[in-house]
Amino acid sequence: MVATPIGNLGDLSPRARSILEAADWIAAEDTRVTRKLFSAGAAAPRGRMLPLHAHNERAQAERIVELLRGGATIALVSDAGTPAISDPGAGVVRAARLAGQPVFAVPGPNAAIAALSVSGLEPSAFLFCGFLPATGERRRSAIEAVRHVPAALVFYESPHRVVESLGDLCALLGGSRIVVVARELTKLFESVHVCPLSDAVDWIEADADRRRGEFVLVVDQPGEAPAAGDVETERVLAELLAELPASRAAHVASRLCGVPRDHAYKLALALKSR
Ligand code: SAM
Repeated sequence: MVATPIGNLGDLSPRARSILEAADWIAAEDTRVTRKLFSAGAAAPRGRMLPLHAHNERAQAERIVELLRGGATIALVSDAGTPAISDPGAGVVRAARLAGQPVFAVPGPNAAIAALSVSGLEPSAFLFCGFLPATGERRRSAIEAVRHVPAALVFYESPHRVVESLGDLCALLGGSRIVVVARELTKLFESVHVCPLSDAVDWIEADADRRRGEFVLVVDQPGEAPAAGDVETERVLAELLAELPASRAAHVASRLCGVPRDHAYKLALALKSR
C-alpha cells in the first residue's frame, strides 16, 4: 500500500518511488494520474498497470490475489495520498490477507493528517469522518451522530458542497466551535483559515477563490464549561476586542490574566462569534 503525494510531487518518498519502479504490477485508481508520477521524476515503472477503482475492486481483488500467489509483487496506489483512506484498496488488503499473502505499508502523504498538523489545534483526540453524505438530511444526521464526541472532527469536502457543509456544521455543532478550513494543501494555492463556525460561511462566500480546490475541514473538540477564571479573562478580552484584532487581544489578555495564549485566543474567537 503505497502513499503518493496529495499535490506536491516532491512529497513522493524515496522508498515509495523505488517500490513503484520495481513492482511487477501497479494497481492504480486512475492509471493516467499515476503515470504523472513517472513523468515527474520516478524512473519508468517496470511493471504493468492494473486499474483499481470503487466499481471493479471486488473483481480486481481476486485477480491481484492470483498474481500474488504466482509470486508477483504489486504496488497499490490511489490518485492521491494514502490508499484505502476514503479511497479504494481496503477490499484488496482483506482479500490478500485472507489468502495468506503479506501486505506492507509504505506510508506517506495524507490530507487529514496534513490538515491536523497545520491546524494549530491540540485536541485530546481526533475522529476522521471522511466525506459527509451529499444530501441534506443524511448529512445532518451524520453531523448529529458526532456532535457530542469529545474529539476534533476531521472531514473531507469538495468545492461543490463546502458551503452547505459549513452551514450545517455551524447549525448543528454551534457557532462557537472553531473550524480550520485547510485548502489545496501542498499546492500552489494552499491556504489555512481558522475561525469560529459562525463566521465560516460568510468568510468562504466572500471570495470565489476560497471555494476552489480540495478541502479538509477540522472542527475543534467541544469546549468545556468556562472555568471560574475565564469570566475575568472574558471581561478583559471583551474590552480589548473593541480596539484590537483577536490575536493581539489574546496576546495582551494572556499576559494580564496569566492564562495560556492559545486559550485566550480561543476565548477571543468565541466572544467574537457571539
Ligand atoms: N486518500 C487520500 C488521503 O490520504 O488523504 C484522500 C482521498 S479522497 C478521495 C480526496 C479528498 O481528500 C479531497 O476531496 C479532499 O477533501 C482531501 N484532499 C486531498 N488532497 C487534498 C489537498 N491537497 N488539500 C486539501 N484536501 C485534500
